[in-house]
Formats: sequence, structure tokens, C-alpha cells
Amino acid sequence: MYNWCHGPNCHTKQIQSRVRGSKGNKVLRTMKVKYNEPSDRYWFRHWCNYFCNQNCLMEFVEKHIQGMIALAPRREPLETPIKDPTKNTDNHYYSSWNIEKKVS
Ligand SMILES: [Zn+2]
Repeated sequence: MYNWCHGPNCHTKQIQSRVRGSKGNKVLRTMKVKYNEPSDRYWFRHWCNYFCNQNCLMEFVEKHIQGMIALAPRREPLETPIKDPTKNTDNHYYSSWNIEKKVS
């Protein structure tokens, strides 16, 4: 099963992989994207079923950002409870903060 790439400019990229059609009727065509059953495997990304690469994904985001935000607007910030941070002073040249999430 395949999807067409949803990148709005996919069919305008002047590269070999977009060239389709018979001699005299050549076109640059939107890429076909192989559909993979959603899985928990580390390599699986849902967007890969709908876009041929990250460039097409980001061009879609640029074009449709208002609609995307309308799907899940954030009107208030979110918070993750943490323990009081402590300063890590083991290294004299570089100090960092230990930030640990509280387990609920
Ligand atoms: Zn594409």
C-alpha cells in the first residue's frame, strides 16, 4: 500500500526521483510513499507514511501551521514536577544542575 507524499511542493523538485511519464510527455510527479503498519519499533515514525522526506514534511507544516495549531491549541503552559535541583560541583571547570523528575 502506498500514499502520495503530502508535501505541497514535492512535484516541483527538479530531481531524478520525480521524473515520470513517457518520452515527450515527461512530468515531475509527487513521490509515492510506502505505507508501513504503525509499530513501536524505534525506527518507526508516523510521518514517514505520509511524506517522502523531512523537507516535504516541513513544507507542509509551513503551509498548514494555522490549521495544525487549531487541532491542539496550547493556551496554558504545561509543567513537569521536579525535585529541588542541586548543583553538581564534581568538575571545577564546568558545573551543571542535576534535574530529576518527581515520580508520582
Ligand atoms: Zn515529498
